[in-house]
Amino acid sequence: MIHNFNAGPSILPREVFEEASVAVLNYNDTGLSILEMGHRTPEFTAIMEEARSLVKELMQLDEHHKVLFLHGGASTQFMQVPMNLLNPKDTVAFADTGVWSSKAIKEARLFGKVEIACSSKEKGYTFIPNDFAVPNDARYFHITTNNTIYGTQWKSIPQTSNVMVADMSSDILSRQLDFNSFGLIYAGAQKNMGPAGVNLVVVDERILGKLKHQIPTIMDYRYHIQEESMLNTPPVFAVYVCLLTLRWLKKMGGVAAIEKRNQEKADLLYAEIDNNELFTTSVQKHDRSLMNVCFAAKNPEHEKMFLDFTVANGVYGIKGHRLSGAFRASLYNAMPLSSVQLLVELMQTFSQSVA
Ligand SMILES: *Cc1c(COP(=O)(O)O)cnc(C)c1O
Repeated sequence: MIHNFNAGPSILPREVFEEASVAVLNYNDTGLSILEMGHRTPEFTAIMEEARSLVKELMQLDEHHKVLFLHGGASTQFMQVPMNLLNPKDTVAFADTGVWSSKAIKEARLFGKVEIACSSKEKGYTFIPNDFAVPNDARYFHITTNNTIYGTQWKSIPQTSNVMVADMSSDILSRQLDFNSFGLIYAGAQKNMGPAGVNLVVVDERILGKLKHQIPTIMDYRYHIQEESMLNTPPVFAVYVCLLTLRWLKKMGGVAAIEKRNQEKADLLYAEIDNNELFTTSVQKHDRSLMNVCFAAKNPEHEKMFLDFTVANGVYGIKGHRLSGAFRASLYNAMPLSSVQLLVELMQTFSQSVA
């Protein structure tokens, strides 16, 4: 058995893979593959509607917040968000907390004036800044709620008078937040809610339509809202697999229940990192991510040894990102506690064996 700690694309529930593979051969006894069905058929329209309404239910969204499934990864949103929200002379504020924030900043600069409200760059992105200065006139304040590469996470959402925009790619649907307090939330699906190839966008429609110029139709959220994510052919299979994952999440008890499980998994692993003589982490305690646990061997010679040892025991994907190095164990919603227990046991066995 493989225990998949990959950062993304990443683990999904086993039953989702099973149902998805049946649908590839014969969707719901229609005799058709999900891959060859028209997207305007009653079958697919029902899939899209249910996926949207499950997101609304699980995130407890009000009537102003619209749910969209759009093409492209989160990187497309780095461009599409400022394209929809900024006039050329507008200011936008960013929290710079890692690689993904920096990439979002780079794209926003093409559409307006960027102010960096805070940054943790100088300390290698090992913490979440707790003082930030957001200009009052900033059209929105953008944060990356979970920093996939550095393993930090905003535990509470900054309170400012500005519209909040968040990249939640790697912690979407993993914990309870007041999602209605955001103007816009986006997430590439492949970390915590489905396969690559689709984005979830939740947007408060009241923040749209304030541009003095036109933008291309396919980029304009308002047309996607109007056409209920069917402005053009949606990524049908990716949306279907998201639906299966959303159903699974609801069955598990929803966001509150999964948050409890996620906390338990992360607590177990961080406790081992803190207690085990061989391992360490540079991520500040208060800001540690529940989703991506970054850690290292104190002795660099142990790094490859431990990696080989985990691979030999069915643990897949804990090699760290090329930028942050060492190890990263991603504990997304679908990761069972038993796999985290196994990883902890391997850390213990390894430290006894080299002691
Ligand atoms: C993975 C990731 C992205 C990039 O997603 P793509 O779908 O590859 O464009 C952006 N932001 C965060 C926080 C991520 O984890």
